[in-house]
Amino acid sequence: MHNKQSGIHCGQRIFQRLALTAGLLSLALPAAHADSSGDGFRQCVDRLKHQAIEAGVSEQTASTVLAEVEHLDRVIELDRRQPEFTTTFADYLNRRVNDDRVGKGRELLQEHQDLLKRVTRETGVPAPYLVAFWGLETNFGSYFGKMPVPSSLATLACDPRRSSFFTEQLTAALRIIDEGAITPAQMEGSWAGAMGHVQFMPTVFLRHAVDGDGDGKRDLWNSLPDAMMSAGNFLQDLGWDPDYRWGREVLLPANFDYALADGRRLGLAEWNRLGVTDAFGNPLADEPIQAALVVPSGHRGPAFLAYHNFNVIMGWNRSEFYAIAVGHLADRIAGAGMLQNPPPEDQPNLSRDHILALQQSLNDQGFDSGEPDGIMGPATRAAIRDYQEANRRVADGYPSEEILNALTGKQQD
Ligand code: CA
Repeated sequence: MHNKQSGIHCGQRIFQRLALTAGLLSLALPAAHADSSGDGFRQCVDRLKHQAIEAGVSEQTASTVLAEVEHLDRVIELDRRQPEFTTTFADYLNRRVNDDRVGKGRELLQEHQDLLKRVTRETGVPAPYLVAFWGLETNFGSYFGKMPVPSSLATLACDPRRSSFFTEQLTAALRIIDEGAITPAQMEGSWAGAMGHVQFMPTVFLRHAVDGDGDGKRDLWNSLPDAMMSAGNFLQDLGWDPDYRWGREVLLPANFDYALADGRRLGLAEWNRLGVTDAFGNPLADEPIQAALVVPSGHRGPAFLAYHNFNVIMGWNRSEFYAIAVGHLADRIAGAGMLQNPPPEDQPNLSRDHILALQQSLNDQGFDSGEPDGIMGPATRAAIRDYQEANRRVADGYPSEEILNALTGKQQD
């Protein structure tokens, strides 16, 4: 689910982040849509204008901004695109957390220490996390996305797929223009409307962005104090726990029961009792918190205990890979080394067809993976775990090449 062009990546990430909400919202479609550019689009934009005014956007902003929007075929293309292959955790992590990015993050941590200390004091979010989000979202402000946000959002709002969701985003974008945060022409972002240093969607901007430099405006494009204070404020609003870290890499004992990595949350004392140690083999600190075990590459790769803040990070972007990348990058920026167990790089990128075949085969053999959809989700992982347990294999729920071959009888490309 990634792309070499970071702007497109951001859009896809947003898509992942919002897929659930948008899926629900899309059930309530407006009466009519423009399915192409031309007259249909203009009529749709006219309806959007009236909706925005009803929602409290000034008539002048709604009229002038929406008079200028254009239907962007490219946005529809990007929205329709289904990634053919899954991304392995190794690919995902190595692309996002590498020595260059860690080095740059450490420099920026120093350079902006006064600002970052202030954000931490006001929001409880430690500086290395703020810099890590900044690094993952826009490579520290080096790429915000160049799509004209009002046109992108109008295009998506006039497309039937997720019209309600993007209508709400467009209205929010118009309110942001209304409050004078940015001019319409300068409102650029990813194709799906994520904006500025930390790639806030318009509704997130409206609810969580703050003025960090005291000039009376919330400017997430041109003011780093605004962007960092807004990131901290968003995380605080999502429930950031200032007393604990995001989670940590851990080591598991031999013959560990990987079925415990099914999302259940246990106290650290319980994980200690099960033989789990920190990444250096030391007992886990006796802290009164719950944690879930995450093994993103299966039993051959690293293991992590995910604390409360891991879930907070997933409130920003609903992806376990993303949450680990933020946490690990923050640790490294704060001075930590590489993972003790780097993820194996020889695992296959599964295609949707491979996953469909796997799901069909699991179902055929009585291990219920739900309706086959070509996407690795919790139900598929649970079905793989059941298959593995029934066949006396390590029950990590990971679709390894071996499991895939055993289940589908097909070799990977
Ligand atoms: Ca400001």
